[in-house]
Amino acid sequence: MEATLRSCASSSTIDDSQAAAIRPRDAPPRFHLLAKPSGSTCNIDCKYCFFLSKEALYPNEKHRMSQATLETYIRQLLESHRTPEVTVAWQGGEPTLMKVEFFRRAVGFVEKYRKPGQVVKHTFQTNGILLDDEWCEFFKAHDFLVGLSVDGPRELHDTFRVDRRAQGTFDLVMNGWRQLRKHGVDFNILCTVNAANEQHGRAVYRFFRDELGAKWIQFIPVIERATEQTIQLANRGWSEREGHKRVLYTQTGTLVTDRSVGAKQYGVFLMDVFEEWVRRDVGRVFVQLFDVTLEALFGRHLLCIHAPTCGLGPALEYNGDLYSCDHFVEPGYRLGNIHETHMLELLASPEQRKFGSDKRDTLTAQCRQCDVRALCNGGCPKDRFARSKDGEAGHNYLCAGLEFFFRQSRPAMETMAKLYRGGRPPSDVMAMIAIDDKRRGPYAPCPCGSGRKFKFCHGDNAPRRSFHPGSSEERRTS
Ligand code: SF4
Ligand code: SF4
Repeated sequence: MEATLRSCASSSTIDDSQAAAIRPRDAPPRFHLLAKPSGSTCNIDCKYCFFLSKEALYPNEKHRMSQATLETYIRQLLESHRTPEVTVAWQGGEPTLMKVEFFRRAVGFVEKYRKPGQVVKHTFQTNGILLDDEWCEFFKAHDFLVGLSVDGPRELHDTFRVDRRAQGTFDLVMNGWRQLRKHGVDFNILCTVNAANEQHGRAVYRFFRDELGAKWIQFIPVIERATEQTIQLANRGWSEREGHKRVLYTQTGTLVTDRSVGAKQYGVFLMDVFEEWVRRDVGRVFVQLFDVTLEALFGRHLLCIHAPTCGLGPALEYNGDLYSCDHFVEPGYRLGNIHETHMLELLASPEQRKFGSDKRDTLTAQCRQCDVRALCNGGCPKDRFARSKDGEAGHNYLCAGLEFFFRQSRPAMETMAKLYRGGRPPSDVMAMIAIDDKRRGPYAPCPCGSGRKFKFCHGDNAPRRSFHPGSSEERRTS
């Protein structure tokens, strides 16, 4: 069996019956692979981006995916899937460094290897800086969903998302956003939650909704781990600067950098967004974690982070090396290379299966007894470096915030689930909340948990003002 798959790693395409015969036992029917065609290379230098340090894994090499690796990757991805839909996901580093022509070839290989009836979706994560007419015409023509990285209005975005001269990149990113809009390309906003924007959830969300016209938004907590030995260097950032060499970031240490989001503050940020969304935007704007939480009430897990197990989100480096996960591109988690071993075999390997089941099997006692465990499932293993309330190691650093968000949002989430079960749209929750708000009155505590009066918090319906630090759009501290 192993030999058959190994030979297929370099042979031409296989048909369905051959695929069924060689499929390793317990091979997943689908997975979501993130491919990094330019490795970790990027054209900007965000201060919190430890992915930049991954170039240390492949010193003295030009980090560009070859045509042979591209073809092998696309072919194996399509022949591995047993579901009708497959996602081809590009990420980095910065994938636009590969030029449009590379992705034209990728689309060509998809057409060459697509099985009858197989539907292929393309996604592309970018900092937006190189987007121009040519890129956006290409995205539109092939129906790409583009993820654009923005951390909020200029003052917040420019704190950490800087170029190599430490200048803010906001204007450059907005040029990219204008190109996407001009060509009608579907885009989603990927926003990190970090020490600079963590107190401004609603202002950040309103900026995306009202000024960028975003319909899909994803929030990702910035958590940069460090040890006593590395914390000083880590606080200076991951780029190679005079006086120190880039160090390879690995998921080790129990300290976090100054740029990392505060544990409780992450939940406060999410609730700040949620209380705005649930009053105005249900069914109109899609915030990934809110969808994920609602689906979890039906026992469906759309996101590995809050699923009971994981292991179906591998990362592919430019040279064909496959790693357990995008967050574990480090030596101990290299599964193999797709030129030598078929990716399906690597994914079905005992190491990768253990990687996925450890997420459930290493939960702390506090997680196992937690009343929101079915929604949270202990979060991502990369963040489990804190101690639980009982002092048990391996607990999620973000627990205080996750617990706060899942508990605080639960009544509205359950109302939406009940509406859906009864055949009504979840968006009917907005009318129900409007009635509750009237009953509550303006001077009662705001349900977001801020401790502020409702009238001055999420009951404030005044038209949105531009964000300026220190203005009333600024959020409280927790
Ligand atoms: S380690 Fe975290 S990000 Fe990676 S697959 Fe598991 S849950 Fe997802
Ligand atoms: S909220 Fe905290 S205790 Fe509960 S499952 Fe999540 S990480 Fe574990």
